[in-house]
Amino acid sequence: KNIQIALDGPAGAGKSTIAKQLAAQLDYVYIDTGAMYRAITLAALEQNLNLEDGQALGELMKSLDLRLTPGDQGQRVFIGEREVTEAIRTNEVTNNVSFVARQAEVRTALVVAQRKLAERGGIVMDGRDIGTVVLPNAELKVFLTASVEERASRRHRENIARGMDSDLPSLQADIALRDKRDSERTVSPLKQAEDAIYLDTTEMNIDQVVTRLTELVEG
Ligand code: C5P
Repeated sequence: KNIQIALDGPAGAGKSTIAKQLAAQLDYVYIDTGAMYRAITLAALEQNLNLEDGQALGELMKSLDLRLTPGDQGQRVFIGEREVTEAIRTNEVTNNVSFVARQAEVRTALVVAQRKLAERGGIVMDGRDIGTVVLPNAELKVFLTASVEERASRRHRENIARGMDSDLPSLQADIALRDKRDSERTVSPLKQAEDAIYLDTTEMNIDQVVTRLTELVEG
């Protein structure tokens, strides 16, 4: 059967890596909702918009043809014909996305789009508010976390692998700040759904987490 799987948690908890592998194993589609907030942030930065002007961002979104397509290496992101899969991962986007993500106009529109993508099931969707707001009836909800030190060093290794500059202490500070902003915002804060399974992956490797989740699905 084709269920909906909601994967939430703080930055760098391994959600996207896990979601990608789990989806591949179940022959499901992986949907990265953070990429949607990132793409809007990229466009807003390029157009020099005030990132806290919800109305302007709402207008921007109407003019953006934002598309997610499943690819071999995971999800690809396009604005119109332009591929922004890599461009949405820069530090500038990462450090500004929380401002854009707390605007109600942005969230309302993206939640509609996300529900549509998940409608037919057979999906693993990762984000911050999937189990609480986007897919409250998801058959499986998981809240994935790890210590901030572990999450920062994972991101550090990822950045290096991508050939990006990376400084561990400032990365850890950035992650902590982003989590604080995501948890303290008034609209759809980062929060564990009551019926979500809590999984601390500080001491687990990717295979162990994927195995655990596969068992939960097949359980
Ligand atoms: O998952 P990722 O780190 O790419 O998410 C980037 C940012 O997008 C988060 O820090 C958060 O501000 C926002 N986000 C959100 N709700 C989601 C997914 C991401 O607010 N469902």
